[in-house]
Amino acid sequence: MVSDINSLYDEAASMGVKVYEARLPHCCQGIYDDDRRIICLDQRMSQRQTLCTLQHELIHARYRDVGCAGRNGVRNELRAQRETALALIDPMGYRTAEQMYEGDKWLMSVELGVTLQVLSDYQTLLREWCCQGHSLQQRYADASVNA
Ligand SMILES: [Zn+2]
Repeated sequence: MVSDINSLYDEAASMGVKVYEARLPHCCQGIYDDDRRIICLDQRMSQRQTLCTLQHELIHARYRDVGCAGRNGVRNELRAQRETALALIDPMGYRTAEQMYEGDKWLMSVELGVTLQVLSDYQTLLREWCCQGHSLQQRYADASVNA
């Protein structure tokens, strides 16, 4: 089951994290402040961007990530990107979208309700999965067992 926006707001509340919207600088769609347990989202984002950004910042909150500087910051950022993709894209939905739109990334991202960045992060995970000798068929089978 992939996350929806209401379940993400509920998750934030259950973690004691407050979510605000404000006009953020252009380079920034979301911020997590671990000292104050606050997530701030840019108010100009689309629904898809808001969903993906809130999921991403919630993962930072879940791990109590502090800042994005240094090696730990890079590692934490990669973890947030990967876990966001896994939380928001269902393998069966991905396969259906890929077949339906013949791999067109824009149409697939719209169908899946995620940003192009999240779709791209998911595809990177799939490539890594395949490079480790796992088949996509097995990944889909695991996903349907867990569904
Ligand atoms: Zn981040």
